[in-house]
Amino acid sequence: MTTPQRAIAAAATVLHAEATEKGRAWGIQGIHAAVRGAIEEDGRQLGQVVIAGFAAIADEGAKTPAAIRWESRYSTAVVAGRAVRIGPTCAVCGRAERGCRHAAAISGDPHVFSPVEPRRLPEVTQ
Ligand SMILES: [Zn+2]
Repeated sequence: MTTPQRAIAAAATVLHAEATEKGRAWGIQGIHAAVRGAIEEDGRQLGQVVIAGFAAIADEGAKTPAAIRWESRYSTAVVAGRAVRIGPTCAVCGRAERGCRHAAAISGDPHVFSPVEPRRLPEVTQ
């Protein structure tokens, strides 16, 4: 399933508004490129990218919109253009352990990483 260009543009507009509100001098073109790259090259889902974008904007260590694609903001790793789940995710915030700790350090919400193993798909029987 591909993400429509207008949905990518809408996400970029939302993130640009947030960045401007927070005093970030990030241009809409740079944000759009990062959002599109995260979706079309990294295989991220639109909702994940918007959440990662808000985290990037709040992260003082993030100097450019490229930070929207930082792997630590996602609970999945990128393998050859596809996102695959890496290990257990946090029951509180839904991130992998590294992302959970990173987000907690930024947001000041230091909840304890509470691992949940990825759900297994039920086996198909004939
Ligand atoms: Zn967490």
